[in-house]
Amino acid sequence: MYVEVLLELKNKQTDQTYTYKVPDSLEDLVSVGKRVKVPFNHRELEGFILSISDFYDKEYKIAEIINVVDEDVILNEELLNIGKFIKETYLCSLSSSYATMLPKALKASEKTNINKKYKSNLFLNIDYEAALKKCSNNKQKEIIDFIYENDGVEKKEANLISTSSVITLLKKEIIREEQEEMYRLNSMSVLNDTKKVLNEEQQSAFNKIIENLNKPEKFLLYGVTGSGKTEVYMQVIDEVINANKTAIVLVPEISLTPQFVYNFKSRFGSFVALLHSALSDGERYDEWRKIARGEVSIVVGARSAIFAPLKNLGIIIVDEEHSESYKQENNPRYNAIDVAEYRSNLNQIPLVLGSATPSLEKMARASKNLYTCLELKNRINNRTLPICVMVDMAEEIKKGNYILSERLKLEIDAAVSRNEQIILLLNRRGYSTTITCGSCGYTYKCPNCDITLTYHKTKNSLRCHYCGYTIFKKDTCPNCHDELNFYGYGTEKLEQIINQEFPDLKVLRMDGDTTKKKNSYEKIINKFKSGEYDILLGTQMISKGLDFPKVSVVGIINADATLNIPDFRSGERTFQMLYQAAGRAGRQDTIGNVIIQTFNKNNFILKCVAEQNYEKFYNYEMDIRKKLKYPPYYYLVSLKVTSKDYDECSKEATKVVKYLKSNLSETSIILGPTTASVFKVNNIYRFSIIIKYRFDDKLKETLIELDKLFILNKKVNLEIDLNPSRI
Ligand code: ADP
Ligand code: ZN
Repeated sequence: MYVEVLLELKNKQTDQTYTYKVPDSLEDLVSVGKRVKVPFNHRELEGFILSISDFYDKEYKIAEIINVVDEDVILNEELLNIGKFIKETYLCSLSSSYATMLPKALKASEKTNINKKYKSNLFLNIDYEAALKKCSNNKQKEIIDFIYENDGVEKKEANLISTSSVITLLKKEIIREEQEEMYRLNSMSVLNDTKKVLNEEQQSAFNKIIENLNKPEKFLLYGVTGSGKTEVYMQVIDEVINANKTAIVLVPEISLTPQFVYNFKSRFGSFVALLHSALSDGERYDEWRKIARGEVSIVVGARSAIFAPLKNLGIIIVDEEHSESYKQENNPRYNAIDVAEYRSNLNQIPLVLGSATPSLEKMARASKNLYTCLELKNRINNRTLPICVMVDMAEEIKKGNYILSERLKLEIDAAVSRNEQIILLLNRRGYSTTITCGSCGYTYKCPNCDITLTYHKTKNSLRCHYCGYTIFKKDTCPNCHDELNFYGYGTEKLEQIINQEFPDLKVLRMDGDTTKKKNSYEKIINKFKSGEYDILLGTQMISKGLDFPKVSVVGIINADATLNIPDFRSGERTFQMLYQAAGRAGRQDTIGNVIIQTFNKNNFILKCVAEQNYEKFYNYEMDIRKKLKYPPYYYLVSLKVTSKDYDECSKEATKVVKYLKSNLSETSIILGPTTASVFKVNNIYRFSIIIKYRFDDKLKETLIELDKLFILNKKVNLEIDLNPSRI
């Protein structure tokens, strides 16, 4: 018997498989998708078995595998295929695809000490009466009774009675010890939630999905904020489980969606496995085994949960479909929604993408009937969407209101007097974004990156939000010792201003700085939900999926911040973030009021937010994309040429463009090289090249060849990103 083994070799990025002989003693243990240990150039390496055959026609002698690493198959047929799909779609190596798909403990190249955990159980080794007779004291008898009454107990618990007695009983073989594999996480099973009666819109969406459970139908569940999308997901999944099938539910980032997860846990209990970034490697390994063994039916998780080894998959649901978190920003640059489509086709099952603010790409597909659009136009119980007003900050500044407008202050007061809560969004953390000297013009900048340092007052430090570079702030200009000026403000400053203006109100801040610790996000949310606090302020984290019944006012402090980012999607992102933030207001017993503070009161996108009008935004933005030849009218490839050496970087970037121009078809548009929007990060220069195309049968081939040219170049690196989320 011979096996074909995929080995990941550090200095070769291309995939290599090698043939090994299987010694007779290991033949029964070998199967496709398991790891084996093999000799390779005087080393021992691990690799996945990709195929098995009985014959090997080459003449020369061939090495034998050393052992089989896994008891169970790791890469089942579906996962093997997904790996190939990722390799072909995103032009990466097969071994890097599998490495991305698997938890650390199961990767082929990883040397880890993540092991299975076992617990010891004690059982009677002889008949109960006989056992009692053999006991020499009461403690021993107590232990025998304890084991007998419970049909075996955990050793840990018997030890609480008497460790020495346990040892004696074991030695005398009156009782025996057995090891049982255990999981680090125990699924809590609080089944305290029941189905709600669906309203008409929910029912009709539910029916359409249910009618297509055995088809690879793609649905866009387009439902306004608070329209009850989660309830539709849960009831559909209930049907899927009743048909003995399984479900994957993707959410943007699990720690950011505790309420969503809580809903699933309380509806489905131990049927659910959670895959989130806060799991330890050991916990992740355990959850993976639970899933692969069919001990759970539903997997809820962030991006990589799309690789969950569920068998008999019945549906895939992607909540907040528009979220950028579904795209991985490093190699392999896969998009979980593409993988979801692939699995939907492979298994002939539906894919449901849900959002209140669908991405333009997905809505465009729905409008061409490539996806079936299911609309939830109304909030649950016909609660009204919030009322939005725009405030012109240029006018406010004349009145001396730099950060909080008159109107917002009034609304805050009014809400508090009605015993309601307030959410304030400012998508920038820290205190000041720029510190400059008034006399000599000195500005604190990152020495490694092309960006100013942000001042964090609590730690009196200046930090680079790209590379983490940190220094302490001096009291005066480090250059001329004159006074320093602070420009731009972040959440930390906002918190201080609120405390000054409203000394009686209790304020919570939620941003990257206050949520570093495990569970801190959840704690802040629970504190706010308890009603003890009046104001929750924070970055875009607070705009997502949260459901606080008592929030009636949402203030968007600086609506312009994200609009001005140089990226073709910044309008779309701004709309999505602000619309979602506005949707936090007036979800239950209150009428929502949203105050949008801006210096661009005529900006069309902000007007669409103020009107809560997705369709208007969609038509406007689609028109721009068409004119400028951006997605969804054109596909994009983003190439980044990076190097520590500026001259080399620039030279190679020019060569790349030349190469593309002479190899791609004439209809493709090649832009660049230009310096990337943040030109230097961590002392590495970055040049950017963009390809826009509709159909180009030479594209993949050209990119693969180009990539090969750079593998050997030690000085300059090339990154290729197909369908990038940012350029
Ligand atoms: P979305 O995800 O669309 O923003 P949610 O799923 O958070 O909306 O639902 C909003 C609220 O309405 C939640 O508190 C949910 O429990 C409740 N809800 C959903 N469907 C129903 C229903 N059919 N009847 C009563 N309440 C519902
Ligand atoms: Zn930096």
